[in-house]
Amino acid sequence: MTLDPARVVAQLEELRSLTGDDDGAQRVAWTETWARARAWLADLLADLPLEQHRDAAGNDWYTLPGDSERAVLIGGHMDSVPNGGWLDGCLNVFAGVEVLRRIASQGAPPVTLRLVSWADEEGARFGRSLFGSSAAAGSMADQDDLRQLRDRDGITLPEALAEHGVDLDRALDARSELDSAAAYLELHIEQGPVLESMDLPLGVVLGTFGVERHRITWRGQAAHAGSTPMDQRRDALAGAAKLALEIRDIAARVGDGAVCTSGGVVCKPGIVTSVVETAEQLLDQRHLDAQKLAELLGQAKDASTRFAAEESIDVEWERIWSIEPILFDETLKGFCEEAILEIAGVAHRLPSGPLHDAAEVARAGVPTVMMFVQSLRGLSHTRLEDTHEEHLEMSVAALDRLASKTIEWVAGGGGR
Ligand SMILES: [Zn+2]
Repeated sequence: MTLDPARVVAQLEELRSLTGDDDGAQRVAWTETWARARAWLADLLADLPLEQHRDAAGNDWYTLPGDSERAVLIGGHMDSVPNGGWLDGCLNVFAGVEVLRRIASQGAPPVTLRLVSWADEEGARFGRSLFGSSAAAGSMADQDDLRQLRDRDGITLPEALAEHGVDLDRALDARSELDSAAAYLELHIEQGPVLESMDLPLGVVLGTFGVERHRITWRGQAAHAGSTPMDQRRDALAGAAKLALEIRDIAARVGDGAVCTSGGVVCKPGIVTSVVETAEQLLDQRHLDAQKLAELLGQAKDASTRFAAEESIDVEWERIWSIEPILFDETLKGFCEEAILEIAGVAHRLPSGPLHDAAEVARAGVPTVMMFVQSLRGLSHTRLEDTHEEHLEMSVAALDRLASKTIEWVAGGGGR
């Protein structure tokens, strides 16, 4: 049987109608809709000669046994953000399904091929991204914090996990899944505007940005909006506001693709007649270079100390989460470029701003590469997320080429 990239597009459309609404995809991890999407995936693969199981972290594994147990992995995620797009995460999965289907039809491959559908890549409900892949990679070290996480309705993460048969205390048992992993491949929509601006369908991903994510709490004094003179205020929001603008200059100074985002500020008491007493600010900083990422953070901290003094308020930093920059495997990047050239005639190398499960697998020591397909208008995490159908089909064909090259490489002793 030959590869049928159009089938992938049809499956993505079917998933959209099954698990989306007028506002977009609703496959938030640890919800009923997500469970339904994963069950649908299992059904889709039921006719193939695969071993399938769910690991201790809730990741679903579909294994096509080969002559050798050493395995080439293809990964993706079925979960979405609320009101998300139709391609983020599930394009990777269904492209992987198509590659599995093509290879399975030709008999046992020389090495084992495994498709993994990672649990909770987005962290949309509890704010913790890459749950399943960090457990499998063995890098999950924040169980004590995870136990405290609650969603908007007050449900704890362990409670939500338990509803889906996952025990947080055992999640790291998923590590054994990577024991046989020789190489890991992931296709993903770019989720940014770079490939479209260059008029290119596909790109080789150099690595993923390192991330520093912090909660910054500014503390001043609530005071009456009418009776407190302007020069006698200790306004917590003033510190947050200054920092929200300063991070633009910090990103420009550090350069080389640096990005900083102040994604939210919550003010208390939050009423029109009071000076703000506390402002809780969220800050996300990313860079492909570890040294420069440290500079982004250091400069933001210095600026916050300065602003606190200027406004006679206090400032406190709390790290929510961080990950170092992760560079992908040189050999696999070469294969990825070859595959793209064969399908599209032209390739480009670019870093990934968003995080991906591939970063966790790479830092577990498994040679890894990602391929990006162009996103229209650079939009993702919205129902407006889209990619030309022609480009989606090219991405499936290129992933198939990449998988073939990687299987050959691993069969010849390459990979881990
Ligand atoms: Zn994704």
